[in-house]
Amino acid sequence: MEIKVTPARPDQLKKKPTDEANLGFGDIVTDHMFLMNYEKGKGWFGPRVEPYHSLAIDPAAMAIHYGQEIFEGLKAYRGKDGGIYLFRARENYLRLNRSAARLCMPEVEIDQVMDGMKKLIMLDREWVPRSPGTSLYIRPTMLATEPHLGVRPAKTYLFFIIIGPVGAYYKEGLNPVKIYVEDKYIRAAVGGIGNAKAAANYAASLLAAEEAKKKGFTQVLWLDAAKRRYVEEVGTMNMFFVINGEVITAPLTGSILPGVTRDSVLRIVKDWGMKVTEKSLDIDELIRAAESGQLKEAFGTGTAAVISPVGQITYKGKDHIVAGGKMGDLSQRLYNEIVAIQYAEKEDPYGWREKIG
Ligand SMILES: *Cc1c(COP(=O)(O)O)cnc(C)c1O
Repeated sequence: MEIKVTPARPDQLKKKPTDEANLGFGDIVTDHMFLMNYEKGKGWFGPRVEPYHSLAIDPAAMAIHYGQEIFEGLKAYRGKDGGIYLFRARENYLRLNRSAARLCMPEVEIDQVMDGMKKLIMLDREWVPRSPGTSLYIRPTMLATEPHLGVRPAKTYLFFIIIGPVGAYYKEGLNPVKIYVEDKYIRAAVGGIGNAKAAANYAASLLAAEEAKKKGFTQVLWLDAAKRRYVEEVGTMNMFFVINGEVITAPLTGSILPGVTRDSVLRIVKDWGMKVTEKSLDIDELIRAAESGQLKEAFGTGTAAVISPVGQITYKGKDHIVAGGKMGDLSQRLYNEIVAIQYAEKEDPYGWREKIG
């Protein structure tokens, strides 16, 4: 299907940010967006790139009432050579389709949306920032638009992609975060939608995150829903722990999000010859390892921060300092490796990088 491109008129163009040191995250959008529509029986139609605009949504649209809304988050990077690169982008659309299937939403044709995304990025290519650590954040989104009050899968959907420049996640180097082990609220249960990037999961997480923030914590570490015992993930990141030389992360049992960064870290660490285990880690075992000094490092992984070192874990009112409150060696090495691949500063032995312009 032909993708129709309508460039913005000169008077519709926005002012580009001039200060790349203060881009922040999630507040700036570019001049254009990609959209397409879906109707049951007809499939996807009308793929197009248009000037960025508001959406007209019927107040009875089913996404608003019953939560059929999923999204993705990935980035385009300005390489050392000035080119624009994607990192494992297809993985994000494969995950979008898995999220769609779980929420009874239509899957997209991956080549088509990748094509639309690339046309959008290239049209707004001057928005891809150049300073170290900055990138272009890409937000593909799908929602149910059919006006109908009554619970069932909708018959019409909108898919769109919006993009915007984002700053370096860390202003003063990689600052270790303090995490609060949440033993009251839960994020997702096995059998639910925790492994889908669905808006509802984030609504469910807000109250715990707000309460933890009030106590001075950056993130909440979720435990499993059934026993409040096994370590799952934090906010929008998967978690890794280095205990006795073994790198441990939670298995993909259905309640955590299968992160692309998680998968990249697993692959790289295996290639570095380290022992890696995907297993359910008992919170008591983790705390014992922290107390005995066997917990050498803890870090989160996700597209936004790449690697986010953990300097403190607080459980049942007790603080446990990790890696002396500093960034650990493995965290630093992984950060350097992944960033160097993303920004085309070194060879990409995995075929993860794609140059689009
Ligand atoms: C997006 C997300 C992650 C990280 O996934 P990446 O593909 O690595 O960006 C982890 N956990 C949750 C809950 C997320 O929403």
